[in-house]
Amino acid sequence: MKLSEIERALEAACPAALAAEWDCVGLHAGDGEQEVVRIVVALDADGPTIEHALSAGADLLVTHHPLSRDAPLRFTDDDVDGEKIASVLRAGLAVYSIHTNFDVTRGGVSDVLAARLGLTDVSVLAGSGSLRKIVVFVPQEHLENVFLAMANAGAGHIGAYRECSFRVSGEGTFTAPPDAHPALGKAGRANAVEEIRLESTVPREAVARVIEAMRAAHPYEEIAYDVYELQAERSDVGFGRIGRIDPVSLEAFASECATRLDVNTVRWAGRVDTEVTTVAVCGGSGGSMIGVAASKGADVLVAGDLRYHDSQRAMAMGLALIDCGHQGTEAPAVPALAELVTGALGAVGYTGRVTIYEAAPLWRPAGG
Ligand SMILES: [Zn+2]
Repeated sequence: MKLSEIERALEAACPAALAAEWDCVGLHAGDGEQEVVRIVVALDADGPTIEHALSAGADLLVTHHPLSRDAPLRFTDDDVDGEKIASVLRAGLAVYSIHTNFDVTRGGVSDVLAARLGLTDVSVLAGSGSLRKIVVFVPQEHLENVFLAMANAGAGHIGAYRECSFRVSGEGTFTAPPDAHPALGKAGRANAVEEIRLESTVPREAVARVIEAMRAAHPYEEIAYDVYELQAERSDVGFGRIGRIDPVSLEAFASECATRLDVNTVRWAGRVDTEVTTVAVCGGSGGSMIGVAASKGADVLVAGDLRYHDSQRAMAMGLALIDCGHQGTEAPAVPALAELVTGALGAVGYTGRVTIYEAAPLWRPAGG
């Protein structure tokens, strides 16, 4: 299958618009025309993974972490990222990353972590603010048609509810040029026509699709519409998860995390007599989730890359921490990433291979 077709299917399965604004996801290297018959899925696009992908004869490497976080200026062996980029380009290995969009999406890093730790009643910890509202002005007789097209493209979903909208009627005015063909009113004069103001919420990743569908169904030559950014949080996607476990001591839960995640370098911070029932989790770096975890009543936050001053802040808020490492909290999601790839590509007829590269733990316990 052509790389461009694969790119389209992966984008549809986990849209780039779900990713954090600072992130760089999607295709990092590769030629859309190249044929892909062998895909390796891994956590990182680092040296050993690239070496494995090349020796396995892969055409495409799909990773969670991007190929590079800071675009290098040198593509020589003097620069670690530059050398990696040069090596994949030289070998014709395409690289595609599904990073923070996979952190926040359903079934992604956070959901896998919550499931591995046995959490129940799981909900999103920090809802994404990536909701938009589209307002469009439509003549009454085309209202249902336009809204149906928008709803089919992803507008108007609020929780379990579908086809949510608000409509109010008013008067639109315009002066059409003499050579125009207005759907309502007359060319070459001032017009006042009755229109409905139709508004509906849209997730950011569906905005372009909804506008395209709305344009196709709308009768006007020049369509008046607005897109607003909303402050309201989405409850269906977002960083981290929060859920419950049966009451257990903090130390016992830290040991259980080590076992369940198969990590041998877990550390914890908090009052020894803390009883844990409400658990917040965040894969990868979790320091930025301390405030929201504490405010939502979590007893403990399980994450990676937690720093000394983060932990002091958490202690002051009465939140205990369990640090299972960046790799330890994200590696369990690699099989889920591979499933996402297999599912998305299977649906569009990909018949090549998809295999997983499992890296050895980077951090090890002293004396272990
Ligand atoms: Zn990460």
